[in-house]
Amino acid sequence: MSGDVRHDWTRGEVRALFALPFNDLIFRAQSLHRTYFDAREVQISTLLSIKTGGCPEDCAYCPQSARYDTGVKAEKLMALNAVLDEARAAKAAGASRFCMGAAWREPKDRDLDSVCAMVEGVKNLGLETCATLGMLTPDQARKLKTAGLDYYNHNLDTSPEMYGDIITTRTYQERLDTLAEVRAAGISVCCGGIVGMGEDEADRAGLIATLAALDPHPESVPINALVKVAGTPLADAAAIDPLDFVRTIAVARITMPKSVVRLSAGREEMSDETQALCFLAGANSIFYGPRLLTTPNPTADHDRVLMARLGLKPMTV
Ligand code: SF4
Repeated sequence: MSGDVRHDWTRGEVRALFALPFNDLIFRAQSLHRTYFDAREVQISTLLSIKTGGCPEDCAYCPQSARYDTGVKAEKLMALNAVLDEARAAKAAGASRFCMGAAWREPKDRDLDSVCAMVEGVKNLGLETCATLGMLTPDQARKLKTAGLDYYNHNLDTSPEMYGDIITTRTYQERLDTLAEVRAAGISVCCGGIVGMGEDEADRAGLIATLAALDPHPESVPINALVKVAGTPLADAAAIDPLDFVRTIAVARITMPKSVVRLSAGREEMSDETQALCFLAGANSIFYGPRLLTTPNPTADHDRVLMARLGLKPMTV
């Protein structure tokens, strides 16, 4: 068991996992999953966009970039009370973690103070807190930690090789630097990527190998399926084979066996059967709620029915 958690996965080893016969891959992932988790439990998070649109970055998948005409309007940072109302509702619906997302390249110090007040308020409601605000300085990371931030989300998005095709306004290294600042401040790391952006299997292996090289592994690993939005450069990307998506989940589970792997964006377009395969492959977290920032997500009612059909229950913190 002790050799399961490794940080030296080579690209070749990760590619070999992707190439396993499907049943062998899923069996291996599910076996490891059961070593470290209760296979009936799924952690439930709710994600709220606290500052929508108008982002100066050029992430090719993102409807919130000011560079693309997607119909998403730029809004101001939400008021504290409105955020806390949403957090109370999320808790009542069964969420254990409340994530706050802002469409910034990086927070201004004034805005960070407002977000810190939100983190404190959400924490006082008895929820785990998570934020995704872009790049952070060491001082900003420390302030968030002091306010009670449990998790910080900052995704690598894709492999280092493909990254330049997706984002040009910040570097891969800048992302790794922010992750290091978050870790140094004592905040747990939520970091994953997006598949279905036209990458090949080598890129998927490159993303997973880079995540698995982080030491310690991110506590939370969101694997997103691209939600194609009209107006973004990836609006016409070829759809990923759902079984390749399941394989990506399984390889994340095998290479980062103690991390919570989140079946993240893209569930709205996935069949219940594909989602069931993702849970079998080791996914053990989802976002609850009808919207993920600006894109649709299954309703909480649909998710409750699906979880009941699969005999899954919410993970308690
Ligand atoms: S993904 Fe984040 S940083 Fe990139 S454009 Fe969208 S809101 Fe901005």
